[in-house]
Amino acid sequence: MSAFTVPAESKSAPNPAPKLTPPQKALRQLGLTRDIDLALHLPLRYEDETRIVAIRSARDGEVVQIEATVVKSEVVMRPRRQLLVVVEDATGECELRFFSFYPSHQKTLSVGARLRIRGEIKGGFWGRQMMHPTFRLAGGELPQALTPVYPTTSALPQAYLRRAVQTGLSRAEQRGALNETLPAAFLHPLPDCWPLAQALHFLHHPNPDVSMATLEDRSHPAWQRLKAEELLAQQLSQLQAKRERALLKAPVLKSATSKNNLVASLSLVEQLLAVLPFSLTAAQRRVSEEIAKDLALGAPMHRLLQGDVGSGKTVVAALAAAICIDAGWQCALMAPTEILAEQHFSKLVGWLSPLLAPRGHQVAWLAGAQKKKERSAALTLIESGEAALVIGTHAVIQEQVKFKNLGLALIDEQHRFGVAQRLALRAKLMDGTGREPHLLMMTATPIPRTLAMGYFADLDVSTLDELPPGRTPIVTKVISDSRRDQVIQRMAEQLAQGRQVYWVCPLIEESEALDLSNATQTHADLSESLPGVSIGLLHSRMPSADKKEVMAAFTSGAMGVLVSTTVIEVGVDVPNASLMVIEHAERFGLSQLHQLRGRVGRGAAASACVLLYATGDGGRLGETARERLKAMAETHDGFEIARRDLDIRGPGEFLGARQSGAQMLRFADLAEDAALLDWAQWAAPQLLDTAPDLAQQHVARWLGGKSAYLKA
Ligand code: ADP
Ligand code: MG
Repeated sequence: MSAFTVPAESKSAPNPAPKLTPPQKALRQLGLTRDIDLALHLPLRYEDETRIVAIRSARDGEVVQIEATVVKSEVVMRPRRQLLVVVEDATGECELRFFSFYPSHQKTLSVGARLRIRGEIKGGFWGRQMMHPTFRLAGGELPQALTPVYPTTSALPQAYLRRAVQTGLSRAEQRGALNETLPAAFLHPLPDCWPLAQALHFLHHPNPDVSMATLEDRSHPAWQRLKAEELLAQQLSQLQAKRERALLKAPVLKSATSKNNLVASLSLVEQLLAVLPFSLTAAQRRVSEEIAKDLALGAPMHRLLQGDVGSGKTVVAALAAAICIDAGWQCALMAPTEILAEQHFSKLVGWLSPLLAPRGHQVAWLAGAQKKKERSAALTLIESGEAALVIGTHAVIQEQVKFKNLGLALIDEQHRFGVAQRLALRAKLMDGTGREPHLLMMTATPIPRTLAMGYFADLDVSTLDELPPGRTPIVTKVISDSRRDQVIQRMAEQLAQGRQVYWVCPLIEESEALDLSNATQTHADLSESLPGVSIGLLHSRMPSADKKEVMAAFTSGAMGVLVSTTVIEVGVDVPNASLMVIEHAERFGLSQLHQLRGRVGRGAAASACVLLYATGDGGRLGETARERLKAMAETHDGFEIARRDLDIRGPGEFLGARQSGAQMLRFADLAEDAALLDWAQWAAPQLLDTAPDLAQQHVARWLGGKSAYLKA
């Protein structure tokens, strides 16, 4: 075993696990456990140590390597204790300064020593300097290739990591881990693409005459290979997950229609459709049919329901639940916040409870802040199966929750949940039954095409592309905070007409306390400006009973204005609210603003959204903030907003939880490498069909143990 190998964890080993040295631990923390992981750990940048530069020709700001003789070396105290060394070569002089140094450094840097020194040159003709350069004795051969600088941590010195990567690379190659996994026909469409082994050798140690620009923008053929490989691994693993899932068993969920029902009673689905206060939109009907088809298949559904805010996803979820319950299985609905879960609960209880009661069924509620007695009553109902529908927050996936027969899991605002949580929900049915529940995830943040292809290739997607009728478009105004009084005037007018208003204060990330005091202050100011109006305050740190009370007052119409932090971001549904004011709108993300705006315009009244911005000291808005606010004023289309948001933020931030579950794409960029992504999408199914072993090898190379995350 080489010094760089991290000992594998072994369950059966009789010997105690060997102790890891700090650098070994650091390697493991970076996920660099296998030879191939090390080989794929690519440099951040390079240093050119292939040349010696004459002191006189080194320019200000340049990082150079010189060879020179020490002519002076002394510790001086001004302005603070430092080691001052002067070196010279045939062309000129350079001063070296060290603020931290050991006696051994002083010894190496003593007068007369000839050294090879590397650092950033400051100053020019009148005196050159280097702060804390690296140095060693002169002589020895110059390297032939650029020196890689790897991403690392403080516990893992660059020199150690370099040797580890080098060892990993050679061993991976010797063991065949870099062998070609792609038959020639697959590579034809990529003319400018090197073999993997060659690409890796090059990227770790490029020739000094390479064009740096092609390395930096990753357009170099060696980079093309790495990115193509990575995208292919991602497509393969998702495709595999999808095919594996098709082989799994899930309950067959079919709603018995009254036609073939001997008792001649209506099915739950039919009854639900009959009690809804509206008829479904064409989009809702189409999407519900897609879901019903999946549920009847006997293999687990894995579907994403995307639809803009207000497009009516809840009723689609309720219909899916009804099918599940009709078939004699339990259904769970999980939402990311208590307020949102609560909204679903009251809506679904209103629709379904009267229909479930005659069948001896109930809807159960689970939340973190629940009283013990209430909780254990709910748990009993769930375990006995009497609770046909279970609604709640993360509490739904807690260990103590035992379903009798979970058939369908609905996840609202799926991007707010981590991968681990989705996996836990799926495991709830698998206990003992060998079957998986069906999974329907909902999101109001539509996924742009490239992302859908890249990250959600294993999902089936249903899209609600139509809003329920009778909505009047929301007018969006971007207004400076200096015109706050006018905005309050506008609020008063709306209130006088019996309408309600949301006022949203931004979340201040560094300080929850500050965040709270802002909202409290705004609440006090508004109460003063609008005497006689009932104004409520809602923030995330309130006890949940108080939150419920405030929400209930606003929902019932008893409260005119709701001042809140972003807790109302998702799911609140009060059709009488016609004005939304978002304070410090410049601090919000685009999707977040769109979600917030979706809280108004839910009824027939003309609605408006005011984006108040403050310019800060400079008197100007930052560029991205301006872009965001402009986008908001220009469009209401959630897909267009998502596209612009992706442009502004990039996929990493956009994806949130799903990506943080497994940092999937290290090298490729879905937007920039769209052509490679197209290739990977084309190649993946063919490789899986024609050469499953190679496909397997390819996925193992890139993902190792991480592919479970992709299946969530
Ligand atoms: P979201 O997709 O944002 O979750 P909701 O399910 O909360 O949207 O629906 C938004 C509002 O539209 C709710 O008040 C809901 O009752 C109403 N709604 C849903 N579908 C229809 C429909 N087909 N016709 C009229 N109103 C509808
Ligand atoms: Mg919703």
